[in-house]
Amino acid sequence: MTGDFAPLVDVLGRYQDTGQIATLWWRDDDAAAPSPALDCLLALSARHDVPLALAVVPVKAEDGLGKALESAPAVAVLQHGYAHQNYAATGEKKIELGPQRPAQVIVGELATGSLRLEALFGRRALPVLVPPWNRLAPFLLPVLPELGYRGLSQFGPRARVTPVQQLRQVNCHVDPIDWRAGTGFIGPQKAVAALVAHLALRLQAGDGAAGSEPTGLMTHHAVHDEAMRRFLDGLLSLTRGHKAVRWLAAREVFGL
Ligand SMILES: [Zn+2]
Repeated sequence: MTGDFAPLVDVLGRYQDTGQIATLWWRDDDAAAPSPALDCLLALSARHDVPLALAVVPVKAEDGLGKALESAPAVAVLQHGYAHQNYAATGEKKIELGPQRPAQVIVGELATGSLRLEALFGRRALPVLVPPWNRLAPFLLPVLPELGYRGLSQFGPRARVTPVQQLRQVNCHVDPIDWRAGTGFIGPQKAVAALVAHLALRLQAGDGAAGSEPTGLMTHHAVHDEAMRRFLDGLLSLTRGHKAVRWLAAREVFGL
């Protein structure tokens, strides 16, 4: 396992040599209810003292989830769409917040969902939208600040820091799950390669939108197997102790 992290150690060395800090953040999607898998995730965050942003599906969120988070002060809650329902036609890419339904319907759902998270999680719930499947119809973008959102998180290097006024976009860039092969771990080499690719891109991109974007790790606790948990444990341990790394809390990531 240690050898698998060698390319990461190399790229972090380049940050250190040039006096730069590799900022990282951690988003875990599809949270809804307390579970042993969620306990494992929270324990990892606590053990390494690394802040975690849980993307919670409002309609599926159970009261018990609020209670499960009470003893985890470093955990923030983001809004993961509304019901995580797919409206795409068969064969098309899955999307909840897409062009298939009128904007007013989606806006109404998002507002209801945001109130639900506020009621369940209080100040821990941040005005940040994480669209299910990381997809959002462009016509919804200008509406988000009007609904009170200040942050947006999808997947891949962002094109702009502020896609519309008053909305900061910070995406995730590493997805260690092999969704095509049945939700197993992609393995340490591929996961490290994805992390290294984004960190190297930032070094090249300088101060632009892509270069200034913290590198986001996206996990899905409900499908983590033992290999995935071991990898996360190793990754958090290595990075938490590294001089050129800083793990950011969601409030800092989105400037809240
Ligand atoms: Zn999701």
